[in-house]
Amino acid sequence: MINTNTINMKPAILGGKPVRMNFLVFGRPHICEAEINEVVDTLRSGWIGTGPRTHQFEETFRKYIGSKYAIALNSCTAGLHLALDVLGINEGDEVITTPITFPSTANVIVHKRAKPVFVDVEKDTMNIDPGGIEEAITRKTKAIMPVHMTGRLCDMDKIMEIATRHNLLVIEDAAHAIEARYKGQKVGNIGDITVFSFYVTKNLVTGEGGMVTTNNDQWAEEMRIKSLHGISRDAWNRYSSKGFRPYETMYPGYKYNMTDIQAALGIHQLTRIEENLKIRERIWHTYDEAFAYIPQIITPQPIGKDNRHARHLYTILLMIERLNISRNEFIAALKAENIGAGIHFTALHLHHYYKNNFGFKRGDFPNAEYISDRTVSLPLSPNLTDADIKDVIDAVTKIIIFYRKYNKHNKR
Ligand SMILES: *Cc1c(COP(=O)(O)O)cnc(C)c1O
Repeated sequence: MINTNTINMKPAILGGKPVRMNFLVFGRPHICEAEINEVVDTLRSGWIGTGPRTHQFEETFRKYIGSKYAIALNSCTAGLHLALDVLGINEGDEVITTPITFPSTANVIVHKRAKPVFVDVEKDTMNIDPGGIEEAITRKTKAIMPVHMTGRLCDMDKIMEIATRHNLLVIEDAAHAIEARYKGQKVGNIGDITVFSFYVTKNLVTGEGGMVTTNNDQWAEEMRIKSLHGISRDAWNRYSSKGFRPYETMYPGYKYNMTDIQAALGIHQLTRIEENLKIRERIWHTYDEAFAYIPQIITPQPIGKDNRHARHLYTILLMIERLNISRNEFIAALKAENIGAGIHFTALHLHHYYKNNFGFKRGDFPNAEYISDRTVSLPLSPNLTDADIKDVIDAVTKIIIFYRKYNKHNKR
């Protein structure tokens, strides 16, 4: 389905007319009046810290996930750190994770003075390859941190089986995957601790924010206490009308609590989460159809019937071998057309810190590098208009057509 209007048009980056006049921001949040009113009510209520709205959000989120516990935090990164902390990951331990993730997944392992051990991903799912996990396990391995890339759950049966056999803990980075299900099972109940993100571009946004879920009583209690300085009663209980109780420091905890202003957003975002997923599914299929016959693009792999994809990121892989531009040049060209795009992700082992401190180099994780060099995430917000979606498709098509290499592969 190539739009003939875009054929042989000069890209805006070379001085041509852009596909649209105003910039389409990537990952634009979908905020409604209900959130705005709730934030205003919170500001007027006299309590803007961690309080009743945070507890309400935790309770509704917990029910949505179906876990025993849900603890609201100020980020997913905080949750990943807290999970490693309560699971006892320490200096000298090894934690297995994927190089195709946001840096914080591995950074928190370094914060605990443990060693991040990368295992290559599968080319088609972009998720950690369970076969590689098995090979990477040593006597020092304590935990596995799978990341559910773009909202597609990892092969959790295999990962949990390996973890059980080797007595390893599993912390799931579900930053992309709130709505996902694996063989009917809701994410947040599979591994030992699961962590979610409510960052501005995610499927549910609270400005900054995150949540941990677990079914383990002891870890839940410890995470709750450690999320607020390690003190035994949270501030709301201490100063509310229920009576006065001085606090006690149980651990040298962290400042990871969510505030009621953030929770005010989350409460209403959660009520629309399924509706928004349906909208993103529709956009997803529109993109799939538009790009299906463009040989310079690989669209996301379909998902098995048993599973449910959370549709967080629509990522195409550019066949750069068939183009006269690199992925970064492609994104610059898209930007000139006034379309924002993202990269999820540049493989972590190629980042300055990981390269220099752990001796990683290009060639170490070929599938991760393949994705890292080719991936482009297109706008997928539920508030995209049909015209926005058409602009994205037109801009991608226009750039591909202009920069495609003429060779036998491109015969259509
Ligand atoms: C966004 C993201 C995070 C970090 O989330 P924050 O809430 O910003 O801390 C972690 N992992 C992945 C895979 C992410 O996409």
